[in-house]
Amino acid sequence: MTNQTKARVYLVGAGPGDADLITVRGAELLRTADCVIYDKLANPALLKFASPDAEIIHVPKRIGPGSATQDEINRLLLEKASAGKTVVRLKGGDPCIFGRAAEELAVLAEAGIDFEIVPGVTAATAAAASTGIILTDRDYSSQVVFVTGREADDKTESKIDWPSLAKFTGAIVFYMGVGNLELITDNLIENGADPDTPAAVIADATFPTQKVTKAPLARIAEQCRRQGVQPPAIIVIGTAAQSDTRFNWFMTRPFFGKNIVVTRDARGNAEFAAMIMRRGGNPIQFATIEIRSLTDSTAFIETLSKITQYDWVVFTSANGVRIFFAALASLHKDSRVFASAKVAAIGPATAEKLREFGINADFVPNVFTGSQLALQLMASTSLRNKKVLLLRSDAASKEAPDLLAQARAAVDDVPIYATVPLRGDSEQLQRDIAAGSIDWLTFASPSAVRSFFDRISPDSVNSSRAKLASIGPVTSAELKGLGLRVDVEAAEHTLDGLLAAIQKHTKSL
Ligand code: SAH
Repeated sequence: MTNQTKARVYLVGAGPGDADLITVRGAELLRTADCVIYDKLANPALLKFASPDAEIIHVPKRIGPGSATQDEINRLLLEKASAGKTVVRLKGGDPCIFGRAAEELAVLAEAGIDFEIVPGVTAATAAAASTGIILTDRDYSSQVVFVTGREADDKTESKIDWPSLAKFTGAIVFYMGVGNLELITDNLIENGADPDTPAAVIADATFPTQKVTKAPLARIAEQCRRQGVQPPAIIVIGTAAQSDTRFNWFMTRPFFGKNIVVTRDARGNAEFAAMIMRRGGNPIQFATIEIRSLTDSTAFIETLSKITQYDWVVFTSANGVRIFFAALASLHKDSRVFASAKVAAIGPATAEKLREFGINADFVPNVFTGSQLALQLMASTSLRNKKVLLLRSDAASKEAPDLLAQARAAVDDVPIYATVPLRGDSEQLQRDIAAGSIDWLTFASPSAVRSFFDRISPDSVNSSRAKLASIGPVTSAELKGLGLRVDVEAAEHTLDGLLAAIQKHTKSL
């Protein structure tokens, strides 16, 4: 057998924008890559798939000074692959559609470096899907052609067959054409295309910022200019571009076009941002707090040494669960420490986190606040002389332990994590709020409120069009205490509930 070496360089299609549109194979390769080289059109959010140890190289290939040229990218590929690294070269859309793949592959082939090509969702089909434009249809579009718009202005060198395109019956899709839109439409019309042919320009396809402009061929360029359409954009020309407006599922989602600020810790923001994006919104991540484990504290270590003695253990956040089980695992212990205890969770997210560690919560209240947890638990079972352990944030209110103590429970309230306010740059957000481009500010905890308004002035928010959404009464009280209005408060005190409340409010307007 020959000495089979595994492929060293993977040319991977990143898809058009939305990070979840990468292929399963592409995501898997990102996970195992030693080095990831990506450019402007590959969504940086894809780096969530990469290993934390991977070397990440951004090559902003733009025309102009100070940018990586194709030669430099080629050199980089060779250098990393020759050093024995597994390299993922991430390219926007599909690597082989207007991606200059041939140049990179030729360099690898020349150097004898193994490679593999992983296709991606190309901008044309992505833009079609996210607008409900059907590129092929048995009635009106039996052929599709992908054309570069960059050669349109090059009358002598252009390889584009304008006379054929002008006669083409089907869907013509231009890539890289926004800057040359006028020339493209002029060329087509001069060569005999019907000026009334439907045309559509889809910018930022699959992103929360997607924008669609439609007009007949003769007017599309002017329309785009008037609306300030910016690249990247796909131009579709032909009956297909007319499309059935009922098929436009993407831009009719509840939060489409809404700029929603999330103010949790970085990990929580990422999770919340993904939920907002699934509903079509544009999440703006602004971390206000950092969750810091307190499992090194004497109080916690002592608690852990007698953890099997408790009758009830109460978790009031998914963070608490995650941090507790990490501490337990570091001592080579697991959920069996709760063999004889009952476990309570404040709400569904906490209960869900417990399930990850093999625990089905014995008690979850139907209103997800600390005080309701205490009251409903007391009403459901006798806590007299029972040992109850609360594992919470160091800033949690005393209401729940006080209530439990009234029920004669022996309560240990042990902080398992601290929420530390984050400082850092807030100027951009302050400007966006003042400019009126923020639709919603969301708050999922009183500590996020405190830390946010340490950095952003409450007055500037009050005088802006931004609305405030709170996860529940404790967070709302904190906002009101700062003289802010609360536009919506979640009826169910979860992130889902928070988004449902915003959606209800938006609908009722
Ligand atoms: N290899 C890529 C294309 C690279 S050429 C692919 O397969 O999609 C760059 C052009 O792609 C842009 O000028 C634009 O026309 C198109 N494009 C890329 N991403 C896009 C997006 N999210 N929305 C609209 N057009 C996009």
